[in-house]
Amino acid sequence: MSPKKTKAEKAAAKSLFRKDENAYVSLKKTEERKLEAYCRQYMDFLSQAKTERKAHDLAVLEAKAQGFQDMAELQAAGTALAPGAKVYRSCRGKTLFLAVVGNKPLVEGMHLVGGHTDAPRLDAKPNPIYEDSEMVLLDTHYYGGIKKYQWVAMPLALHGVVVKPDGETVAITIGEDLADPVFVITDLLPHLGKDQAAKKLSEGISGEGLNILLASRPDEAAGDDVKEKVKSRLLGILNKKYGITEEDFASAELEIVPAGPARELGLDRSMILGYGHDDRICAYAGLRGLIDLDGIPEYTAGVLLCDKEEIGSVGATGMDSTFFENSVAELMALAEGGYDGLALRRCLERSRMLSADVNVLHDPNYPEVSSPNNHARINHGVAIAKYTGSRGKGGASDASAEFMAEIRRIFDAAGVAWQMAELGKVDQGGGGTIAMFLARYGMDVVDCGVGVLSMHAPWEVASKLDTYMTYKAYRAFLADAR
Ligand code: MN
Ligand code: MN
Repeated sequence: MSPKKTKAEKAAAKSLFRKDENAYVSLKKTEERKLEAYCRQYMDFLSQAKTERKAHDLAVLEAKAQGFQDMAELQAAGTALAPGAKVYRSCRGKTLFLAVVGNKPLVEGMHLVGGHTDAPRLDAKPNPIYEDSEMVLLDTHYYGGIKKYQWVAMPLALHGVVVKPDGETVAITIGEDLADPVFVITDLLPHLGKDQAAKKLSEGISGEGLNILLASRPDEAAGDDVKEKVKSRLLGILNKKYGITEEDFASAELEIVPAGPARELGLDRSMILGYGHDDRICAYAGLRGLIDLDGIPEYTAGVLLCDKEEIGSVGATGMDSTFFENSVAELMALAEGGYDGLALRRCLERSRMLSADVNVLHDPNYPEVSSPNNHARINHGVAIAKYTGSRGKGGASDASAEFMAEIRRIFDAAGVAWQMAELGKVDQGGGGTIAMFLARYGMDVVDCGVGVLSMHAPWEVASKLDTYMTYKAYRAFLADAR
């Protein structure tokens, strides 16, 4: 018989995911059930959130169902916020800020988790539809860092909005329902692919070659004066179904993405194959971490779901805009009855943030790019990147040792399996996240998220365990009382 454990020992034992061990080894049965339930909910979200707009709308829907209120409406009604109040603020239906007001005044700082909901994809050009060789194609400009050859010869879906001059917004989703048609970018047959095969991988399929096959049937009734009969018929179908004309594409945002839902991956069902894990997997974990907070947090807890991260966080809906700063100012006005510029700066500087973005998992197919002893391993928990950047840490946001110590304390106390991870071998490449835009305020920020395989591919891979541990990590961080 072993001696009885003290309360502190029990708490410590709860946290003991050994750093060199696969976290399944120490995973409790009760925890496993929560893990499976969480991943089912996430897969459902991922299957529906095929664009940043859809991710935004789903997040608002879920938040509203949990009692979150629109800050614009509260402001109009002159409602003051008390600790425990749950609010959100939207930026053009794409970027979202959510918060639960804490017990301490905002000037003491916040706990933030920020992820992004945009993902690599193909965008329709403003003048996209053309006929060639009696087929109609959709001209695209790719968005984010894609490997172009991955996007051909696979079923694609079309999502987006067309906004008419009178303000009416027409939402379009084609290719997700099994009864829907899908689209495709054709590839060359190997029989005639000699020249293509000799090209560099990055040149085998060109950006201008990413044209999506939309239609092939001509308008039989059209007279000889109609030169492009397939296009004419297609525009007729679009007009009948959506009430739009060719000119309306000038005020449209149409995104072409892989068709179909997220699926369980592997014979043991331990993984998830889905489009847009980067970064909806961390964005959703942040959202759920905030929604699932127990009681009123000590510090105001905030979550950011950002747009445009994949193209450098630029523009009004990107993290480089003042939307976040404005949102905190608005929150301060609502919760504390006024705006004080100095208090806002103090709040931002005293805040702490997890930059919630995916990392890369060590891949046995490509071991040569992994950082020796510092790569993330599948099922070893949420991956923390002390710094990002590339080539001598260029462009890195580097978290301090002091903040890293706090993170270790929080995650261990909450029983989170975590691992340190560097994005690839030195000088192999690298990347950045939204971390640097928050670090600008002088707050502590560290990158922390799910390790994935095939990042930026049409279908990305994540482990269920790492997905769940990331949610647990974010929730614990948002709730931390310091
Ligand atoms: Mn990302
Ligand atoms: Mn990315």
